[in-house]
Parts: sequence; C-alpha cells; structure tokens
Amino acid sequence: MDNRLATAREWVAQSRRVVALTGAGISTESGIPDFRGPQGLWTKNPKAEKLSDIRYYMADPEVRRLAWQQRVAHPAWQARPNPGHLALVSLEKSGRLHALVTQNIDGLHQAAGNSPDKVVEVHGTMHEVVCMSCDWRGPMQATLDRVRAGEEDPACKSCGGILKSATISFGQALIPEVIDRALKAAQEADLLLAIGTSLNVYPVAGAVPLAKSAGAKVVILNAQPTPMDEMADAVLRGAIGEVLPRLVKGKPARDISRA
Ligand SMILES: [Zn+2]
Repeated sequence: MDNRLATAREWVAQSRRVVALTGAGISTESGIPDFRGPQGLWTKNPKAEKLSDIRYYMADPEVRRLAWQQRVAHPAWQARPNPGHLALVSLEKSGRLHALVTQNIDGLHQAAGNSPDKVVEVHGTMHEVVCMSCDWRGPMQATLDRVRAGEEDPACKSCGGILKSATISFGQALIPEVIDRALKAAQEADLLLAIGTSLNVYPVAGAVPLAKSAGAKVVILNAQPTPMDEMADAVLRGAIGEVLPRLVKGKPARDISRA
C-alpha cells in the first residue's frame, strides 16, 4: 500500500464524522455513464444536453418524448452497487459516516445498503417522477410502464401537467433545504471524502472548502485532477472499487509506515 493511501486510511480510521461526497465516478464502475465526463454523452454531443434542460423540456413535446425513451432505456435500471458503494456501507456500519452527499441520481447508495436518512441527494432521484404543475410525486417505474404501453409523453393523472423525473435538470433551481443540509453536514465533518466527483459543480463543490475551513481533513479520490486537489490533505487516484474498500475497511493497520 502506498504511503498516501496508508496515511489516508489512518485518518479515516480515526475519524468519527466522515462526510462522503460522491459523484458520477463511483457509478461509472456500475455501468452508468458519466454524461458530463471526458467520454460523456453530453461532452460528445452537446445537443443531447437539451434533453436535460428544463427550458427545452417544458417547451417541446418532442424533447419530452425523447427524454422518456432515454429513461426507459437508462442503464441504471440494470445497475448494481459495486465495491465502492459497499465500502461506504461498511463505513456507515462502523458508525463513522455522518452523511453521504451524492450528486448521483441513481439510488445505488441506498441499493447498496446505506440508510436513506444518511443519503443527501443534491440532484434528486430518478426513481421518482414529479408533476411540474401540482408537485404530485410517484414511483418512476409506474410511469415508465405507461411509456412502455405507448404513452409517449405521459401526463399527470391528477392535473394533466407535465411529468419529469424528480431530478434537478439544467436551468432548474436546486432545493435549498437539501443543499443547506449537505453544506451543514460538511461543516460538521472531521473528514471529508470526495469520491468520483470533478468538484466543478457548485454549490455542492463548496462543501470541500467549508469542511476544510471548519478543520476537517480532506481526501479526494478521483480519476482526474480536480480544482480542489491543492486544498486536499491527500489525493488518491485509481479505480474507486479498488481503492475505496482499502481506504475505509478495517482497523488502522499497525504496519503502516510513518515515514
Ligand atoms: Zn399534476
């Protein structure tokens, strides 16, 4: 084990209030593409981004039709949690996970076994639908069944309004209470662990400097450099499913070199 990982592992073992901040990188290892990453659909084809832009979505039935087709075919429905997700379940079971703030909408943290009350989904969830007119919410799969049965743009059964996944689209406001909860948790952390996130998306990325200035150690695990690497106490590379289990599992090793 290299020294940085060993040192970071010791910090995690000594922490009592770890806040994990996860992004697309932890889910790509479960087969869910990172739409914004270097190989992402939106990066390669900016027009695809229209499907996730609330202005086009509300204005254009054709955009909604395509968006529903994408939801039906989304790889998340077949995805399973990977060892990275399971490592965060271990962390919670050890009593050291204060909060799990995620930018992901796929529900894989809950599927892995993290308590729903620990998970803060800052970009919402694709497992529910919401009516844009009356705020009705319901399970996604029941609405996808309507799409599979031939409704191209299923309307709200209560009011006839436009339905959408309960996620935060481009052009749509974040939910202040959710963001406040995420940032408050970061300020209460004794260690902030940023995993698979490019830390480019605010205000959530602001959790890192908030935690740091409140005295937390900051550990970043991401495939690419992030704008906050210089602020971090340790920056780790490598596959999340390999590195994260080694980072969070087990007691602090006695054989760690303190060199
Ligand atoms: Zn409605």
